[in-house]
Amino acid sequence: MAIITGSSSGIGAAVAAEMAREGAIVVVNYPNDREIEMAGKVLNDIKASGGNGILQRADVSKEDEVINMFAAVIRQFGTVDILVNNAGIQKDAPFEQMTLADWNLVMNVNLTGQFLCAREAIREFLRRGIVPERSRAAGKIICMSSVHQVIPWAGHVNYATSKGGIMLLMKSLAQEFAPKKIRINSIAPGAIKTNINRSAWDTPEAESKLLELIPYARVGIPEDIGRTAVWLASDESDYVTGATIFVDGGMTLFPGFSTNG
Ligand code: NAD
Repeated sequence: MAIITGSSSGIGAAVAAEMAREGAIVVVNYPNDREIEMAGKVLNDIKASGGNGILQRADVSKEDEVINMFAAVIRQFGTVDILVNNAGIQKDAPFEQMTLADWNLVMNVNLTGQFLCAREAIREFLRRGIVPERSRAAGKIICMSSVHQVIPWAGHVNYATSKGGIMLLMKSLAQEFAPKKIRINSIAPGAIKTNINRSAWDTPEAESKLLELIPYARVGIPEDIGRTAVWLASDESDYVTGATIFVDGGMTLFPGFSTNG
């Protein structure tokens, strides 16, 4: 049983599809009624490919909604094995024009949302412990970070700060819960073609400018992240905890220095 937050589109949808393909029952989480159709389509596609799952509405920035989501899933399926903390947003502005509302919105969804969901998941993992026939671990959490946990990003200070926060949220949790056999890791995507960054790749001019930042010379697709998430959630990665896997085509390799800087 895997909960994937913000899985009505983009990376979350691909993670849900890849996990369902590997046999997990997936919870396709969406934040509000405006996104129910998109979430429904994601789940229908999963079912059409032989997978199984449910829809669950919850705004990850709201404590009561997160608690209710976990309670509903545990009531229906007995437990939760995997949490993918994926929901995230951008609300960009030049720093001097950034409102407190812009700042709070991004922090609340991207960082507090990961805290709230991780806390509920860990409570359940601690309650249940290891079930050897399911996994060597008592539970797995995958945090969707970004290359911007290490690359500063002018004009996106709220977003980059939230991702830097996720890095130490993840590492501190990994340290705290490794003795309980709970594994917590991050994926740091580079540029992946989704709605969050559409203007950066949806014209040939924009895409070729973006490619200047990507040594591997292609923009990523959501499935690149989905496959990494499956590996991190599986026993194949049983000795991996507290790690960030950069899935970025080399974006963090300082490509500006490839021709002598
Ligand atoms: P996206 O906009 O397609 O997906 C974001 C999802 O989060 C949507 O399904 C949205 O409904 C959901 N969401 C937003 N607010 C929510 C809330 N309060 N509660 C629950 N769900 C909520 O964009 P994406 O690229 O798929 O983004 C997914 C994650 O990947 C984000 O955390 C983003 O920061 C991260 N990421 C994306 C890229 C990229 O290039 N696309 C790069 C680095 C990191």
